[in-house]
Amino acid sequence: MNRILLLPIFALFSLTHCGKKDGVPEIVEKTTPEGLELRYTPAKATYSGNALVLIARDPNFVPSQLQQRKALHMLAKSYPDYEIRSVLRPQVTFIDSGSNFESVHCNLCGKEIPTAHWQEAMGRAYTSAFNDLSFQTVCCNQKGSLNDLDYRMPCGFAKYEIRLEDFDSSTNRNAEVIQELQQLLKQEIKLVWVHN
Ligand SMILES: [Zn+2]
Repeated sequence: MNRILLLPIFALFSLTHCGKKDGVPEIVEKTTPEGLELRYTPAKATYSGNALVLIARDPNFVPSQLQQRKALHMLAKSYPDYEIRSVLRPQVTFIDSGSNFESVHCNLCGKEIPTAHWQEAMGRAYTSAFNDLSFQTVCCNQKGSLNDLDYRMPCGFAKYEIRLEDFDSSTNRNAEVIQELQQLLKQEIKLVWVHN
């Protein structure tokens, strides 16, 4: 096969290696049919299925490519031992805490929401591709949002997510790093602890 034919095949993957310059960890950038994906994979990375997923409180938040790169670089520098991956999808998805999910409570009155009622609302929201997250509470009869409900443990909705594999919650710089991420993305950040 000649080289000209091979080129479009490589272009399909459009991988970009940012390189290890100035002590900046290597981030691999990939354009997928779903959107842009950035990945930092250190040799020490482990995978147990547990992860910390960082999302914006606003499900429709779309960072610029520059923000995505800066966010991954900052996190990879702060946490060099974890695999860190950011994904930007065209549609909002539900970020589930897996087996950490216990119950859903009304953020307006605090009462527990019956699972069947919540699932029905999730089904409706799903048919709108999670564009409409409106939720009518039965406990206190108010209009709310599925995004604002009190999930225990926290869950959320997002187009953009950053996943840190096997993240150790006791790392003492966490609050500082989240603060830095919030400033970088100009968004309030929500932490979803995923346990599978
Ligand atoms: Zn209520």
